[in-house]
Amino acid sequence: MKEIDVKRIGDKTEELFGKIAYHYPAGIMDAIRQAHQQEDNPRGKNVFDMLEENARIAIEEHIPICQDTGMAVVWLSIGQDVHLTGGDVNEAIHEAVGRSYTANALRASVVDDPLFERKNTKNNTPALIHTRIVPGEEVTIEVMAKGFGSENKSQLKMLTPAMGVEGVKEFVLDTVKKAGPDACPPYVIGIGIGGDFESCAEMSKAALLRETENADTRYSQLEKELLEKINTLDIGPMGYGGKATALKVMVEYAPTHIAGLPCAVNICCHVCRHAKAVIQ
Ligand code: SF4
Repeated sequence: MKEIDVKRIGDKTEELFGKIAYHYPAGIMDAIRQAHQQEDNPRGKNVFDMLEENARIAIEEHIPICQDTGMAVVWLSIGQDVHLTGGDVNEAIHEAVGRSYTANALRASVVDDPLFERKNTKNNTPALIHTRIVPGEEVTIEVMAKGFGSENKSQLKMLTPAMGVEGVKEFVLDTVKKAGPDACPPYVIGIGIGGDFESCAEMSKAALLRETENADTRYSQLEKELLEKINTLDIGPMGYGGKATALKVMVEYAPTHIAGLPCAVNICCHVCRHAKAVIQ
């Protein structure tokens, strides 16, 4: 059995959060450049000029891409042949997030209680941790710093099976229309279809992490069609109008109950900060 010290997981988590505050994922930056070239609305083009300038300054002057440096979300895929040593892995991750946000002077955006005191925890902890047990001898860490301007515009609906593909399309378009300019477009849109109430929501967020084409051609076709339809809404970059309301649409799906068709739409702004590392 492979032994992995939780300190290594913590150190890598700290490093990844320190990186994504300043660096767009390569796939998102490419999508921004491509959409910039294709944009013909002058105001939309102007916004893209500013986004690219902002991205350059973030790297060169080490200033976060956005003042909302997000809530820390971590997906931990632990190989079933791994023995974690050195303490509590959840604690290691929370401490790593606290260290990263403090050392990089990133905004602390987490309150300890959602309803009453809403006292800031001062170091952006706790993180939200999704743990999966997977085959193998390694640990994969995927991190996201999710801004809440866009999180607040995300929605989940329990559709009926009879609503089918058309019902999904209608719900996705309606969610994007309702988000309008409020969540800093152009958007990256993660969609979960199937599972149950809570797994569908988690799937929609995890969809934002995907860097590759959808392996299922039916779903990749659906992604393309949704992207085209969304980009006719004329919301455009930062809501100034234009072709680029969304950069990407990514769908994840799972088996579900015969009586249900859960659908979740996670809206992410153009920043879409995420990164991945594997520990062996
Ligand atoms: S939605 Fe994104 S770009 Fe807008 S303020 Fe939040 S993190 Fe920043």
